[in-house]
Amino acid sequence: MRKNRIILLNDIFDNDISGQTQDSLQDLDDDTFNNLHIEQQEKSNKKYEVKMISTNNKYTFWSRYMGPYAVASAVHQNCPDWEVVVIDWFTKIDHFHDYIANFINEDTYYIGLSTTFLLNTFNPRAQDFNLWFTRQRQVDDWFNKIKEINPDIEFILGGAITDLFYKIHFKTRPEAKFPVAFQNHINYVFNGYAEDTMVEFLNGELEPQKVHEKNGIFFINETKMASTGAKVLQSNYQHSMAIKNGEWLPLEVSKGCRFGCKFCFYDIRGTLIKDADCLREELMYNYENFGVTGYMLTDDTVNDSPAKIDMLHKVIKSLPFKMEWISYCRPDMFSKYPEMWRKMIDMGCKGVFLGVETLDHTAGKLAGKGLDPERMKEILTWMREVAQDDVFILASMIIGLPGETKESLYKTAEWFKEQTVLDKIQYELFFVSDGNDSKSPAFTGKPDNPYGIHLEYYPNYYWKHNSMDLHDAQFMALEWEKMLIDHPKTAFERHFSYNTNFWAYPRLRSLGYDHLESVGILTAKVVPQEVYEKNRRWIDNYHTELKLINHVKSLQQEEMLA
Ligand code: SF4
Repeated sequence: MRKNRIILLNDIFDNDISGQTQDSLQDLDDDTFNNLHIEQQEKSNKKYEVKMISTNNKYTFWSRYMGPYAVASAVHQNCPDWEVVVIDWFTKIDHFHDYIANFINEDTYYIGLSTTFLLNTFNPRAQDFNLWFTRQRQVDDWFNKIKEINPDIEFILGGAITDLFYKIHFKTRPEAKFPVAFQNHINYVFNGYAEDTMVEFLNGELEPQKVHEKNGIFFINETKMASTGAKVLQSNYQHSMAIKNGEWLPLEVSKGCRFGCKFCFYDIRGTLIKDADCLREELMYNYENFGVTGYMLTDDTVNDSPAKIDMLHKVIKSLPFKMEWISYCRPDMFSKYPEMWRKMIDMGCKGVFLGVETLDHTAGKLAGKGLDPERMKEILTWMREVAQDDVFILASMIIGLPGETKESLYKTAEWFKEQTVLDKIQYELFFVSDGNDSKSPAFTGKPDNPYGIHLEYYPNYYWKHNSMDLHDAQFMALEWEKMLIDHPKTAFERHFSYNTNFWAYPRLRSLGYDHLESVGILTAKVVPQEVYEKNRRWIDNYHTELKLINHVKSLQQEEMLA
């Protein structure tokens, strides 16, 4: 039976430049821009001693991520008239339009773009809608070339930036115009979790109150969060997704987080956990069909309760294979529940992204991470003692939280210099929003905020609070880099300059490197060229296989052949 087709395009666009955004870049001519791009790239390479083999760094190690596959699974299970094709790593395809033409015929109605990780760091603002390009006309051209293949195709946007557009165009500045390419090409914008709304949309069952229209563009809003009715569904990977045997995949065990840290943008009003039987069934299905034994858990905090760790332990230990996984994790939970760490290791934990954020007590208490820093240091040391070399341990830090000072940050860096327990430290500069978004964190630039935060967006993004400002934070980031760049064990980098970040671990495992090799690559000063090349070959093979499985002919062509 012929089915209607929707294509989801999914990728994390990599560019390891400087992590800075610069308004002035918009106005440069192409040659100047390209030269600057290369210059920044070289500077970055020198600084991190990382060797790139391409100026746009298309070779870093990202895995599939959950969102589009959760939507695809929901459509597969609930929309009998529709088939979904997910094209992952799509920005890495040479001659993309020639490639995607193989997937499109008259039955192809929609192309959905998952925008969460499609931001080029050269773009000053996400709301300019330059996506992974740097010029609006390039974005416009990209859409136009797809319309040359099938002029009736409609475009759907999903992912993280949709909320930004909804907020601007329906709340703060309804009079604002959409960017040219957005107005010319986008038909629907899915805001929030889309597993249900996409199914309702394709089945023609959308409730009218979820739909808001402006200038002919329809915004479809899902108001459900983890605590208010969103679901944690069993994923349903298909052979048509060209999953490689033994590939590490994303796995959703729970949605939302119950901690409510004040700097956090996630769904922080509560958590919802997958049913144990459902989880086991899913793990068995993936194992039997694709040989999958490795996962990155998408949970905001894997160890948010002993009950959840117990459930996971019971399920994972009952499997007929040895499962391995990595996840976000809160180290402070081990202060009260140390047994969770041993259980996590026992059930195959190979990596933890620890939200440490600060080692200053005042800043920690204000942010909602209030464990005494001395206790935190003890826990980090103890975690390494228990785990030995079996777990990749990364601490994530924020530079510039309210309450933090230059002195406290020097003190933190001194401890980082001395310790030998962390494989990697990554940091990001404190970011504060204007607080107009209902999901925004408690640290906001609202005039009445209790932290003395002052926020400016124009002409440049800038904040200050009672103990630091953005420039102090930028200065301290450089100080940390100077102090930690030659650490004998711990690699140090900015999240934004994520050539080899935490989420590269599963990718390396998918490429066939074992645990120790992967940790070695992720903490090395120089990533061996062969790793980039192996990754590139893997992605090329995936695209070839995906095309072989999912290519279609135009219906006219088929009729002529019949
Ligand atoms: S930072 Fe982590 S622990 Fe805190 S609210 Fe966000 S997801 Fe939860």
